[in-house]
Amino acid sequence: MTDVPSFALTEDHLTLKQWVHDFAADVIRPKAAEYDEREEFPWEVLEEAAKIGLYSFDFIATQAFDTTGLGIPVYMEELFWGDAGIALSLVGSSLAAAGVRANGTDEQVMEWVPQMFGSPGDIKVAAFCSSEPDAGSDVGAMRTRAEYDEAKDEWVLNGTKTWATNGGIANVHVVTAVVDPELKTRGQASFVIGPNTPGLSQGQKFAKHGIRASHTAEVVLDNCRIPGSQLLGGKEKLDARLAKAREGVKSGRTQPSMATFERTRPAVGAQALGVARAAYEYALDYAKTRVQFGKPIIENQGVAFQLADMATQIDASRLLVWRAAWLGAQGLPFEHAEGSMSKLFASETCKRVTDQAIQILGGNGFTREYPVERMARDARIFTIYEGTSEIQRLVIARAESGAPIRG
Ligand SMILES: Cc1cc2nc3c(=O)[nH]c(=O)nc-3n(C[C@H](O)[C@H](O)[C@H](O)COP(=O)(O)OP(=O)(O)OC[C@H]3O[C@@H](n4cnc5c(N)ncnc54)[C@H](O)[C@@H]3O)c2cc1C
Repeated sequence: MTDVPSFALTEDHLTLKQWVHDFAADVIRPKAAEYDEREEFPWEVLEEAAKIGLYSFDFIATQAFDTTGLGIPVYMEELFWGDAGIALSLVGSSLAAAGVRANGTDEQVMEWVPQMFGSPGDIKVAAFCSSEPDAGSDVGAMRTRAEYDEAKDEWVLNGTKTWATNGGIANVHVVTAVVDPELKTRGQASFVIGPNTPGLSQGQKFAKHGIRASHTAEVVLDNCRIPGSQLLGGKEKLDARLAKAREGVKSGRTQPSMATFERTRPAVGAQALGVARAAYEYALDYAKTRVQFGKPIIENQGVAFQLADMATQIDASRLLVWRAAWLGAQGLPFEHAEGSMSKLFASETCKRVTDQAIQILGGNGFTREYPVERMARDARIFTIYEGTSEIQRLVIARAESGAPIRG
């Protein structure tokens, strides 16, 4: 068990929390049902967020350098409290930014991350493309190839990525690919693909169960040529790493997609936390006002105890998320898979809590007139993306036991 730091929010955190909460309440919530119904990307909301600096490179950079690590979970929780589909559209670019930060040089971060956000009046988004049709949980099965054309100092990428949030509509795509198939995950690297690059196109756009405002699509790479400088981390570092792998020297380095997900898992836990809290608050208010058998339904222990469990699990999720975020910000390793624990617990809590909220609202909970129905659909994503609950359990079990539990 890791030592637990103080989680007292600073004045800055409290101001941030209120600012994002107001945006979620005033701008996101009124549009949530409409965008869910239309399944369209909420560009106008990103524009509003950019105007106040909430969707910007500066905002992300400030949070990334918060030494307590709590800024990101605090703003994620509030945004997703507003609506998960719209909130994911607002934070999808951050996953790609995390991909550049985890694997790229400082120069690459400064060159590419600002282009992922654009500016008011000229909004841009970014996509992180790791998953493939035959390589979801099993990143070692990745087939997208990156081959180096030495004469032109260019990389040539071929393959199909799937499930990419913002895939095809992004200004910047961060793509993981195989450079040496014999080395499995150690033979993979990540690349940045800039705007309007020939050979990159959007494939199928998916019609989804939840988070329907968020754009999810295939990205097809067909002889997509990019300058050598767009290999994240640089060629020298890659060559040294591949040479070590070929000699069988163990490296502490993580596979590029995993390096990204390690940074982002507590943030996904915070997303789930926001949706769970929204559903809980709605169910609590409803239970206090809905009268059956001559009294508010909350006066039945069967209903009140459900709400008590929901509140407890939400608070426990927040503590796990904040602990993992704090560890990450201190540069401390997740020795007990604390990042995975936070994502696993918060996402499973969100699934359970949103389902209980529907039950507490009865027939109303089952209709699209009430938001908990949408929240329950949205909740399903958190146990799936950035590593399913089963994969989180695998990571935790391995960390705890040291045993070679098989994937
Ligand atoms: C809306 C949405 C947005 C997404 N956004 C992105 C994105 O931006 N970028 C990106 O790269 N990817 C993205 N993904 C992909 C997501 O990360 C994958 O869907 C996820 O990793 C699971 O992979 P899969 O769908 O291929 O499922 P599979 O890996 O085929 O898994 C199917 C089932 O088998 C289980 N399973 C698999 N292996 C094991 C095992 N060893 N032990 C126990 N159970 C196992 C899984 O837990 C799951 O229940 C997104 C997905 C969705 C749905």
